[in-house]
Amino acid sequence: PDFFPDIAREELRRAAMDPEHGRLMELLGYRSMICVPITARGRVLGAMTFVIAGESRRYDQRDFELALDLARRAGQAMDNSLLFETVERGRRNAALLADASRVLASTPDVRSALREVGCLVGAQLGEMVQFVIADESGSYELFGWAAPDALDFVQRIRPLVNRLPAHAPVGVRHALSLQSVESFGEKDVVDLLARLPLSDDERALLGEVCAGITAPMVSRGKSVGAFVVRTRKKGRRYCPEEVELANDIAQRAALAISNSYLHRQATDAIQARDEFLSVASHELRTPLTALHLLVRTLQTPEGVPVPLTPEKLAIAERQILRIAKLVNQLFDLSRVTSGHLEMDLEDVDLATVVRDVAARMADEAFDAACTVAVRAPAPCVGRWDKFRLEQIVTNLLANALKYGRGKPVHLTVEDLGASARLTVRDAGIGILPEHAQRIFERFSRANPDRRYEGLGLGLYIIKQILEALGGTISVESEPGKGALFVVALIFGRKHGMIAARARRRAVSMEAAA
Ligand code: ADP
Repeated sequence: PDFFPDIAREELRRAAMDPEHGRLMELLGYRSMICVPITARGRVLGAMTFVIAGESRRYDQRDFELALDLARRAGQAMDNSLLFETVERGRRNAALLADASRVLASTPDVRSALREVGCLVGAQLGEMVQFVIADESGSYELFGWAAPDALDFVQRIRPLVNRLPAHAPVGVRHALSLQSVESFGEKDVVDLLARLPLSDDERALLGEVCAGITAPMVSRGKSVGAFVVRTRKKGRRYCPEEVELANDIAQRAALAISNSYLHRQATDAIQARDEFLSVASHELRTPLTALHLLVRTLQTPEGVPVPLTPEKLAIAERQILRIAKLVNQLFDLSRVTSGHLEMDLEDVDLATVVRDVAARMADEAFDAACTVAVRAPAPCVGRWDKFRLEQIVTNLLANALKYGRGKPVHLTVEDLGASARLTVRDAGIGILPEHAQRIFERFSRANPDRRYEGLGLGLYIIKQILEALGGTISVESEPGKGALFVVALIFGRKHGMIAARARRRAVSMEAAA
């Protein structure tokens, strides 16, 4: 067709279907012409045209048959080559997918794996390839690859695509909001850019992108990010197989990312458990050693019994109580983790509980040189578990004495109408802001040095008990100035009464109806 002026192309196509093609000859001024379609499996793939421009000879029937035969062979050859291309493309895609899967499975360092996969995919699919890993808070990280001559473009375009709104199909936010894979070509970019509020420079920069694929990365039903392919090659359009390939890679990457999260969680859990075991054995060994030494003083080297003095008895009791406390915490921990923390609900006055616990711990307060002041002016009765409330107050007061030695401790109980509020304030070492949330987690200790005994379990167990009772705990603190722990507890009984009242009203309305 390149031998013909542009005007003739459409005519040429038509002429291929029309053996007379008189109109075309007339148009072009050719003397004799054969024009036959090239077809394969019922599809027109092109046309073959022979012309005699100036000579007197005209094509005859034999020439025409020869042309038909040539066109048939050309059709077969073109069909074979198309088939070969399709098979070859499929093979290349399958090989790329296999390589990407191998890289993703070969290392727990998912970030470096994604960079390597980006490089593999980029060589085949586009000049810019990017994995966007997003977390629940909405922040994201980018890992990718760009062809050397696209690096500068990537630097320039990044700030722009980062701030594009979610409906702009080339922006990061859009990529993260996708439910299924999407692709676009040059025309889509032109349409899109016309609709976006951009400066001329920004529009020109984004306009350099000619085609792209964006695939959401979803694993175990949860979005973990998006996979993005972009090219500036004019006329490039991604075919369905390539879109599918990008989608497959996105799914494999998503699986690798969520596996890496699981891997990290598992390693953190194992590390926490190992640390806990070492802390727990240390904590148990200390009172056992003290008891052992004490027992050895109960007889002379010759084996003669030495009488037990009240002081020794007090030491023995303190160490046994310490062991008992540790064992009880471990027992509670196993109940919490197996979901067996049961509450024995009854009417309990929180004010009485706080006063009783403070009185019971007078000796410990004396040992810690702390004064303990309780302000609980009125009864504060709710439907709670008395033993568990005692446990909460005991633990918070014990912490206040432990971390606030020599300083006053204040306990208050207030009825706030819908809930009760218990506060425990000390003037001790306090807690750094970055540790304020962490201390309620399992095995978490804000003072890793062994100056203060403890398993890092007390606050975690308190939080679990409060969750079971419908309560919360929080802390306000300034390092060096002490800590204020605030417990809020809803009145189970009052809520019960409100619910019962609402039920009665519903029944009487029904009766009236
Ligand atoms: P532990 O048995 O280690 O005290 P907890 O769960 O009771 O365990 O407390 C967790 C961590 O919180 C402690 O290791 C300590 O670092 C910090 N903490 C708890 N109470 C206080 C407090 N009143 N003042 C300062 N730090 C505290």
